[in-house]
Amino acid sequence: MENCLFCKIIKKEIPSEIVFENDELLAFRDISPQAPVHILIIPKIHIESPFEINSSNSTVAGKIIALAAEIAKEQKLEGYRLVFNCNEIAGQSVFHLHAHLLGGRIMNWPPG
Ligand code: AMP
Repeated sequence: MENCLFCKIIKKEIPSEIVFENDELLAFRDISPQAPVHILIIPKIHIESPFEINSSNSTVAGKIIALAAEIAKEQKLEGYRLVFNCNEIAGQSVFHLHAHLLGGRIMNWPPG
């Protein structure tokens, strides 16, 4: 998608601190970290939000969750939070599907 920030990061038109990349997924550090470890995991195909996940593209969502577990282990996290914000009302500001992998500090529940 031409005007999508994360598509630009995928194409390396915008720099990012990449922690993992393969044909389907990219993981990079959030520019405004909310925890000692705050990594965004995105699919390389443009999916606007979790609302757009369906039976034809859901495999990639499973791969995002599996990659989060791998990265969390690599980062030696004791536990972590995985967040998908869906639409502005839930805090989504970039409309390209992404999981926030957050860890390295105690997290409260319920979230704000
Ligand atoms: P969300 O609010 O769920 O859409 O999350 C978007 C996230 O993208 C926010 O946590 C931002 O800090 C992060 N972000 C925005 N621009 C960049 C960037 N250029 N590189 C890395 N992370 C970014």
